[in-house]
Amino acid sequence: MQTMDSYDFSGKKALVRVDLNVPQDANGQVTDDTRARAILPTVNKILNDGGSAILMSHLGRPKGKANPGMSLKPIGEYLSGLLGKPVVFATDCVGPDAQAKAAALKPGEVLLLENLRFHPEEEAGDETFSKTLSQLGDVYVNDAFGTAHRAHASTTIVAKFFPIDKLFGHLMQAEIDSVGKVLGHPQRPMTAIVGGSKVSSKIDVLQNLIGKCDELIIGGGMANTFVKAQEGQTGASLVEDDLLDTARAIIKEAAEKGVKLHIPTDAVVADAFAENANTDQCAADAVPDGWMALDIGPKSIDAFRAAILRSKTLLWNGPMGVFEMKPFQQGTVAIAQAVAEATSKGAFSLVGGGDSVAAVNQFGLADKISYVSTGGGAMLEYLEGKVLPGIAAVQG
Ligand code: AMP
Repeated sequence: MQTMDSYDFSGKKALVRVDLNVPQDANGQVTDDTRARAILPTVNKILNDGGSAILMSHLGRPKGKANPGMSLKPIGEYLSGLLGKPVVFATDCVGPDAQAKAAALKPGEVLLLENLRFHPEEEAGDETFSKTLSQLGDVYVNDAFGTAHRAHASTTIVAKFFPIDKLFGHLMQAEIDSVGKVLGHPQRPMTAIVGGSKVSSKIDVLQNLIGKCDELIIGGGMANTFVKAQEGQTGASLVEDDLLDTARAIIKEAAEKGVKLHIPTDAVVADAFAENANTDQCAADAVPDGWMALDIGPKSIDAFRAAILRSKTLLWNGPMGVFEMKPFQQGTVAIAQAVAEATSKGAFSLVGGGDSVAAVNQFGLADKISYVSTGGGAMLEYLEGKVLPGIAAVQG
């Protein structure tokens, strides 16, 4: 397989699927440019080699229709500032304007195509549309991890028109390498920390991880279902009664596979789901009627911290409590700090798949984690052990 480091883009027009789906305010101003900055290493490598870059992305959900409010034009102007050079804009991703501007592109130049999702063929993974896109470039680069779990035209189908010249961009490669370090051949012990609101959204992740980790820490709202599955009193906590058997099956499987399972032993409880609720602490299996567990307690923090600090590989997905509310964020803060501390002592840590990424950013710890994933849904599916179509298409 070709890689960004080995591929020579000199004289080539690279058709690059990027994720420029950046958040904007009501006036169209970019409010968070993380995704735009994340593509710079790939674009700069292409340009520095003496190639040119044709960038394609989606923005928002225009549902297959042109929508001026979701145009990529202002994002192109923003990107131009980041790159320190002009970004030519094509008013449609296919058709005469795109073709003419792609044909006229010279080494060192950048072209951005209009929002792919203005065409229903993009999300439908249409072959003809994919082929038309493919004709704009000589080599295909996929650097959009956030959409790698979707078999869309630009993320997956287009790759078949580049039998040899197809590769992952730097960002995509970093995501793949990080998951490989955790799920492929991890340094042991490997500990997975899974939290968040519901067991139902994490069943596949838990089942995949249980075959791979040495220790499994379960926190957040989903831990209540595990506590109740073991006959604990969970009061008014969030519990999925239809998943009690599933929780018991996971507990049994962990025991059979020799995975050390950590479920909270104490909790911070509240008499309402509110920032200003009355709060208390109690055993996780003795939550009084009318009260709910909204964070893990100090004994659970100590036990989870000890497990994290003896690990060489860490994977964290999902907060330990309702971290958006100050009274219930201590568990998530403590786990984030423990993961950062273990990392500083040489462990490899991957934080990915949604709110735990928001948590490490909010607590200012992102730069103390080995890798913080950029893809929410894509990372969750990857951790479930699924083959992501955008990855398979480039590897195949
Ligand atoms: P998820 O999207 O499944 O990762 O869940 C993240 C959400 O879970 C966050 O918004 C948290 O507020 C919520 N959460 C975490 N712990 C609890 C809890 N003990 N009870 C209710 N919700 C929780």
